[in-house]
Amino acid sequence: MNLHARGTIKVAAVALGCAKNRVDTEEILGLLGRHRFTIAAAPEDADIVVVNTCSFIESAQQESIDAILQAARPSTGSRPIVIAAGCLVQHYGEALLQKIPELSGIIGVHSYKELLPFINRCLAGQREALILPPEKNYSSLGPRLLTTPAHSVYVKIAEGCSNRCRYCLIPTMRGRSRSRNPQEIIDEVKELVGGGAQEINLVAQDTTAYGLDLTGAPDLAGLLKMLLRAVPQLPWLRVLYAYPSRVSDALIDLIADRPQLCKYLDLPLQHAHSEILERMGRRYGTAEIEALIVKLRQRIPGLALRATYMTGFPGERRRHFQELLRFMQRHPLERVGAFAYSPQEGTAAASLDHPVPARVREKRRRQLMLLQKNISLALNRKLIGRRMTLLVDRVIENTPHGTLYYGRTQYQAPEVDGGVYFKTASVLKPGQWVSARIAAANPYDLLAVQPHPVQFPASK
Ligand code: SF4
Repeated sequence: MNLHARGTIKVAAVALGCAKNRVDTEEILGLLGRHRFTIAAAPEDADIVVVNTCSFIESAQQESIDAILQAARPSTGSRPIVIAAGCLVQHYGEALLQKIPELSGIIGVHSYKELLPFINRCLAGQREALILPPEKNYSSLGPRLLTTPAHSVYVKIAEGCSNRCRYCLIPTMRGRSRSRNPQEIIDEVKELVGGGAQEINLVAQDTTAYGLDLTGAPDLAGLLKMLLRAVPQLPWLRVLYAYPSRVSDALIDLIADRPQLCKYLDLPLQHAHSEILERMGRRYGTAEIEALIVKLRQRIPGLALRATYMTGFPGERRRHFQELLRFMQRHPLERVGAFAYSPQEGTAAASLDHPVPARVREKRRRQLMLLQKNISLALNRKLIGRRMTLLVDRVIENTPHGTLYYGRTQYQAPEVDGGVYFKTASVLKPGQWVSARIAAANPYDLLAVQPHPVQFPASK
């Protein structure tokens, strides 16, 4: 069927993986929406489905392949043109097109500026792999079509990573770290705040590497100052993916002193034993991260820290893992995510000696998360009785308790952290603010009472 002839071509996109990939997906939809493509409500209604894949670990790769096959076999409607984009394309290249006949084309993460002519060639029946090398500079494709609620938005400040951790393929897939022009970021944030954004979450592979590659550009703390000057009306600005050894005193002071900056920091620590951190190629040891956490706790009272840990890295013996658990008890963190090490072909770690059996890797991940569950519960219980400001994320109708609201404090990031449930006689919409008293806690979520709407964060 010649879709061109029909005039309107409906396109949908599936965003997999991290928040950075979600931003890419939104830029792709924005670009197509500006060039006579109609954005379909769901993949089933689309003529073209772009599956923006993830390839971080094995389970993410499988999820991406499943999403491609599902897009190619819609439960209703005719079979769409399916295009794969994202990290799986970078990782496997043309082999992906050969292996998955359901695909009509694949486009790499550095090729999105050529998306329109590429899609037209696919529409004309050309089955193509477009995988261009990274450009010297990184800039956005233009205004996005948001896939998150407009009140809470991710902003990508850089692409790629230069840290070269031994287990990670991202530098290979996404290239070295390239920072976006600061003015481009400021203009985008202004536009998003004008569109109702109450919370901006800054993302990159390593946000603390911002500006290091751009002559005359500010570093992350400098960029934050520029943003706070440009959008003084923005209630919440949050920093995600901070590389521990790059968290500067200037950044810490800014988070401590500026009410708009969420008292929240995401630190992918990966481990806490110096021997394992060194094997991973992380540029810090136990002493450095202990000192950093102590400094953060002293300088920013009430700060919520999120960390990611990896279990079962080659060479991790019981004593290393036990030390990690002891570290978590010495430095209880509010939020923790954990991955079992997943060997990735093409990484230095894949050929390291002393591999840990998969069942032991997974057993340690579960053990670690069980410990964290108790830590989170204890820390959440300390919030009971406090009145806190919540950003309403969603309304949950028809629950056994009637209409419930779900919101977050500044100490809870979207999607990855828990939230706060509450009931109120007021009729609220996502993006509104309430002040409420925490009445109960479980390891991940809180329950609040006595909510009352507020215009702007009244209390911390
Ligand atoms: S910091 Fe390390 S783990 Fe994170 S994206 Fe960069 S290379 Fe990968």
